[in-house]
Amino acid sequence: MAEPLFLCKVGELYLKGDNRPLFEKKLVASIERAVGPARIRDHRGKLTVEGAGHDPEVLQRLERVFGIVSIELAHRVETDEDDILSTAVTLARSEASGARTFRISTRRTWKGFHLNSVDLNCLAGAAVARATGLAVDLGDPDLDVRIEVGTPHTYVYTRRIPGAGGLPVGSSGHAVLLLSGGIDSPVAGWLAMKRGLTLDAVHFHSPPHTGPAALRKVRDLTGILASWQGAVRLHVVPFTVAQEAVRDTVREDYRVLIYRRLMVRIACLLAERSRARALVTGESLAQVASQTLENMSCIEAAAALPVLRPLVTYDKIEVIQRARRLSTYEVSIRPGEDCCALFVPRHPATRGRHDVCERCEDDLDVEDLVESCAGAAVTEEISPPS
Ligand code: ATP
Ligand code: MG
Repeated sequence: MAEPLFLCKVGELYLKGDNRPLFEKKLVASIERAVGPARIRDHRGKLTVEGAGHDPEVLQRLERVFGIVSIELAHRVETDEDDILSTAVTLARSEASGARTFRISTRRTWKGFHLNSVDLNCLAGAAVARATGLAVDLGDPDLDVRIEVGTPHTYVYTRRIPGAGGLPVGSSGHAVLLLSGGIDSPVAGWLAMKRGLTLDAVHFHSPPHTGPAALRKVRDLTGILASWQGAVRLHVVPFTVAQEAVRDTVREDYRVLIYRRLMVRIACLLAERSRARALVTGESLAQVASQTLENMSCIEAAAALPVLRPLVTYDKIEVIQRARRLSTYEVSIRPGEDCCALFVPRHPATRGRHDVCERCEDDLDVEDLVESCAGAAVTEEISPPS
């Protein structure tokens, strides 16, 4: 009897040499978090999710696990010639409608089996052709019946669902995402997660200048990110005092730069507390005045940790496409003022200078502002939406 299960294929994991056990451990943990009690087995780099059949809801969860390149809707049988052939035929029959051509693609990882892959291709090919009337096309068939011969089990499948790709969450370490309510930063966070980072999010808000709608947006965006990583810690930092101090002391054209320098300092302090080793932002080169090379350099100079900018080379239109696919776009475009839109000068500096930033900060009690803002941060744990 063939048992339906999901066979998860991993890609780059194979490249990781000595680190591979760590990556596999993180991947198994991610799968467990995503699918709950279904059994997970590791057959030498093959991960199967058992006990859930081909449940579409479980499949949907698996599609959100980074590190999985594809998910095969597989059937597992004993490695026995008759069982393999009859499963191939049953599967081809059930998938044959609308198809005109097929091929059998056998891989034999267990060399002890008495048929080699060419023999099995021929035998299964003849059986499927007889049963379905489909013609063989080795080049570009409508139906590809794949057979992976191992021991003691063989997997037979025709349907391959693309996985999320990337690396398992947590396998690259831990970082802090600066999350505004805008379009860019959630996408940047998703890309960072895809490369194996676990994220905390930090959001700066300035009540009463920014209202509860902005906070709700940020919580909803964090929830969407959590559906890819599991619960995300969101640090909400009250930023009003710092922003008003900047407004009252700093020359107009440098205000945005100085806010940003304060933000990265505060984010670095919070990162230190959770042992995160980098910041992630949604900045994109030359997208807005604050994102020129000179200004990024001024912002980065205030950071004690590397600043990762996954979107640095993205066009806005590419970011929007990605945001739509992630369903963050609809949330990001909801009304809700970001604190960075406050007190914005008519003519912000586009070629910020380090020495000028430092002089502006001489008139502020930077250390005190940074510590008091970080100290007043409220941390919430945001779970994926049910
Ligand atoms: P986004 O769409 O992500 O807001 P943006 O194009 O509007 O980006 P800016 O507003 O200049 O660009 O912000 C640049 C980056 O600074 C953001 O992507 C985000 O990482 C960070 N940032 C801006 N405002 C905030 C905020 N209120 N809280 C946390 N991070 C912020
Ligand atoms: Mg913004």
